[in-house]
Amino acid sequence: MSLDEGSAPSNFIRHIIDDDIAANKHSGKVATRFPPEPNGYLHIGHAKSIVLNFGIAEDYKGTCNLRFDDTNPEKEDVDFVHAIQDDVRWLGFDWDDCLFYASDYFQKLYDFAVELIKSGKAYVCDLSAEETREYRGTLTEPGRPSPYRDRSVDENLDLFERMKNGEYEDGARVLRAKIDMASPNMNMRDPTLYRIRHGVIHHQTGAEWRIYPMYDYTHPISDALEGITHSLCTLEFADHRPLYDWVLDNISIDCHPQQIEFSRLNLQYTVMSKRKLTQLVQENYVDGWDDPRMPTIAGLRRRGFTPWSIREFCHRIGISKVDNSVEMGMLEATIREDLNTSAPRRMGVLNPLKLVIENYPEGQVEDLNSPNHPQDESFGKRTIPFSREVYIDREDFREQANNKFKRLVLGKEVRLRSGYVIRCDEVIKDDRGEIIELRCVYDPDTLGKNPEGRKVKGVIHWVSVAHAVEAEVRLYDRLFNHPTPDDGKDGVDYKERINPESLVVLSKCMLEPTLADAQPGERFQFEREGYFCRDTGFTDRLVFNRTVTLRDSWAKVEAQGA
Ligand code: ATP
Ligand code: MG
Repeated sequence: MSLDEGSAPSNFIRHIIDDDIAANKHSGKVATRFPPEPNGYLHIGHAKSIVLNFGIAEDYKGTCNLRFDDTNPEKEDVDFVHAIQDDVRWLGFDWDDCLFYASDYFQKLYDFAVELIKSGKAYVCDLSAEETREYRGTLTEPGRPSPYRDRSVDENLDLFERMKNGEYEDGARVLRAKIDMASPNMNMRDPTLYRIRHGVIHHQTGAEWRIYPMYDYTHPISDALEGITHSLCTLEFADHRPLYDWVLDNISIDCHPQQIEFSRLNLQYTVMSKRKLTQLVQENYVDGWDDPRMPTIAGLRRRGFTPWSIREFCHRIGISKVDNSVEMGMLEATIREDLNTSAPRRMGVLNPLKLVIENYPEGQVEDLNSPNHPQDESFGKRTIPFSREVYIDREDFREQANNKFKRLVLGKEVRLRSGYVIRCDEVIKDDRGEIIELRCVYDPDTLGKNPEGRKVKGVIHWVSVAHAVEAEVRLYDRLFNHPTPDDGKDGVDYKERINPESLVVLSKCMLEPTLADAQPGERFQFEREGYFCRDTGFTDRLVFNRTVTLRDSWAKVEAQGA
């Protein structure tokens, strides 16, 4: 049994595309792109953009390019280039042969800049960064023209070429667009198009360039060179759209993609800015980009999320222009839904307590049958060895409890899942009063049937002591204990809001023997405990990661306003 691939719900962007197709704009073609900067791993916010862009290409029989927006070599790395490709592919999308780099266009971008200089629309400016800021004005005051604004075309061409040849130091000069220093839109006040960067080695172009184009200049031209029809980006670029259009209107290029903005995904109980995620990694708050607590695709994958659950989540949150913050519970509900239908059931005792069945023959082992899925027979059955000594979870036993506690209580009965009904007669404690063993009896006439004349409601999971495999189980929880960790309110830094219980490592867990063969990445429901997957990182020992609990335990916390 598997869940259907939900089709993407329509949204305002798809409506625009429908209208464009109806009007035969772009000859009815649809071409999108996903343009990550390779300066970090992709996160769940990027997934929203990936599902949108690749999803549109799929549904409209168009194309979606994967384009690395690599104009900041200092912060970028080829490892990120590879990780991003792995993640997009893992999510289930394919760019065929449409893999590009903005750096592929460095020469063309340079040639277009020369064209802008020749037509008097760009100039070399010698103001320092600080002076440039002063001259730019404020939201309420217009800027002042740079004293270098009226340099001759010849002087500009000469200086720009010498910038390219590496004759000046970083920051000595920039190339700026000549637009409007009084524009109410700050982005139009003669924005920088090129800056000098000496001695950096670009991961694609090496030491070839000493000037690098700015994003706002590079992006529209890359889009146009690739014949993109709809350039989808997040809302903060709305104010940059006039510049996007200005660039394309002022160079000789016959393609003019339409930029359309949508709201970015904000997810509660986590942070999404790459700068902050980088900090978490570099300052060792987490164990790398693929730490299962990270909102990265690699982290979610290692945690046990499925590609379906992430795509489905992205469909459910929808696309709009309204800024919002999505509840973490929604992402967790999606993976729970997926694993409920797709994950086979197993038994694993996380906090083992030994239980001896005194009337069960020593040395005897029985193979009990247990369904791999309670609602889906196609999962088949497995055998689980049963013997005189089993482990149960400490949480499942109390010396005294009222009727609400449907587990094992001293003097009372409970059923061992897929096995017999047992009764606990004696509790053995150590010197400090801690329970170390339970003494029980079993009713041999209760396998697969109810006991005569009495009702036993509780069912608990167990593992035979002699057959158990020992494993480490990592209980992952939300990385932050605040819904909006980086809201900056009360002057609290987001790092102070890290949930100290976001990782609890249990080292001596006892699992049923079939789990010894679990493959890295394989997912299971540990009955009554949650969904787990075998970790892909540790190869020296058996480690399982908790993907998600069976129920949303945070909902209660949130309802109490904690
Ligand atoms: P950050 O600001 O955290 O560094 P970014 O937007 O600069 O992120 P890019 O690698 O440039 O990261 O993003 C690639 C694409 O993914 C862009 O089109 C961007 O708009 C989109 N994207 C990034 N974050 C989100 C998000 N939270 N929700 C939706 N789309 C996003
Ligand atoms: Mg960006």
